[in-house]
Amino acid sequence: MGKSRHWADVLCENVTAIGRKHTIATGITPSGEIHIGNLREVLTADAAYRALCDAGIDAELIYIADTLDPLRKVYPFLSDDYSEHVGKPLSAIPCPCGDCANYAEHYLLPFFESLAELEICPKVYRAHELYESGDFVPATLTALRKRDRIAAIIAAVSHRELPTDWSPFNVICEACGRITTTTVTGFDLADGTDGVGRMSGTGGTVDYACECGYSGTVPVKGHGKLTWRVDWAARWGILGVTIEPFGKDHATRGGSYDTGTRISKEIYGYAPPYPIIYEWIHLKGKGAMSSSTGVTITIAEMLRVMPPEVLRYLIIRTKPEKHIDFDPSRIIDLIDGFDRANDRARELSVTKAFLPSDIPFTHLVTAIQVASDPDDPDNLREVLRRSGYDAYDEESVTRRVANARNWLASYAPDSARFEVQEELPDAAGSLSDGQKSGLLWLASAIDAGMTGQEMHDLTYEAAGVAEIPASTMFQAIYIAFLGKASGPRAGYFMASLDRDFLLSRLRAAGCE
Ligand SMILES: [Zn+2]
Ligand SMILES: [Zn+2]
Repeated sequence: MGKSRHWADVLCENVTAIGRKHTIATGITPSGEIHIGNLREVLTADAAYRALCDAGIDAELIYIADTLDPLRKVYPFLSDDYSEHVGKPLSAIPCPCGDCANYAEHYLLPFFESLAELEICPKVYRAHELYESGDFVPATLTALRKRDRIAAIIAAVSHRELPTDWSPFNVICEACGRITTTTVTGFDLADGTDGVGRMSGTGGTVDYACECGYSGTVPVKGHGKLTWRVDWAARWGILGVTIEPFGKDHATRGGSYDTGTRISKEIYGYAPPYPIIYEWIHLKGKGAMSSSTGVTITIAEMLRVMPPEVLRYLIIRTKPEKHIDFDPSRIIDLIDGFDRANDRARELSVTKAFLPSDIPFTHLVTAIQVASDPDDPDNLREVLRRSGYDAYDEESVTRRVANARNWLASYAPDSARFEVQEELPDAAGSLSDGQKSGLLWLASAIDAGMTGQEMHDLTYEAAGVAEIPASTMFQAIYIAFLGKASGPRAGYFMASLDRDFLLSRLRAAGCE
């Protein structure tokens, strides 16, 4: 296949007209395990980032963790103790294991480890740190001052009437710690200046009342956050975002990108980022992946069963606007497909730590099941040598063998699993005369040193000699060695067996 134009390169051309330097933003609310559905956003951003770098464009990749977002509910994976924390910012809630700085970090740390393996290296911002440092104070003061105009924009674009006490800023209650139960009752912009750019980041206080009964006055800085639609628009200007991928849920007519666009232009005087709208990843047979429905596979789990560059490839090869059907039982095809690929998606997926594999993954899956003692590297080496793989990169094979074992243990369909039977299986008793004569002919025709391909061709010849269909001949081989009617590619499978064992079993089954 030739190197066709990849979506990330097309994007590159589209954005060069916008500016010379680009900041690509991505971010996820760390309210639970970050799964491969979420990974699509980060990888889409990273592919765009790499394509820009390849084109010689000055680009930066940033990741904003929405640590000030509240815990929405006690998720099924949390203990009941968390009910007292519902409504508090994730950065202010204790972590489930007790070892992390807070709840958000508990889910961010393994995510960042996976990102490192995938060679995605964004500059990371945490929302609570941005707000505590005062970076959002000018934008917050502007939002408070222009509250009516923002409310009018949201009402006009999203066709929903906002409550009369609506505020663009949510205060964290000093008494109960919740950010979802407060109402802003007034504010003082301190020196009365226009918030845009001219505030030092210290001015301004907000009066609030909380459902818990408390009411008070707090400085804007570090005591709350802008409401989602305003926060998103404000951060574009504050962080200089020019490109941002986001899920199709934000891209609906009247959705948060539409309101963000107008708020960014009309309130903050900043052109909104170039949008990359992406579709969901569907888990085969389960539907769209989502933390709240529990239909997820974590990124770390996927990295147990496939190399990082293949996980990158799974996502990068598909245009963002197309949904991805992900079927873990077919990872074997995905890996073989990646190894054979010679396209731009593969180029954008390869990591620096990548080691090309000299052995097809499908064959490794067969070889580790043929090896009588799979934990003995010499044994596996012997199986691979017999099937024609003498020289290969040990480190690469070791990594892939680990992937193959984990895949066999967790996701492989029964059709991919087999066990070479030490004794002639009982099922051999049901072989037809034609099948038996084919097996005996094979035993007489196999020469020392024959390759898997040669044994494959020989199997067709055996079917011809025995006057049975090729599929019936293959079935006979599987029954003779595995005790079932299907199995791996027969020629390569036979080549990887010990030659004496191979011949004596063919004869034993043929004489049954
Ligand atoms: Zn923890
Ligand atoms: Zn309260």
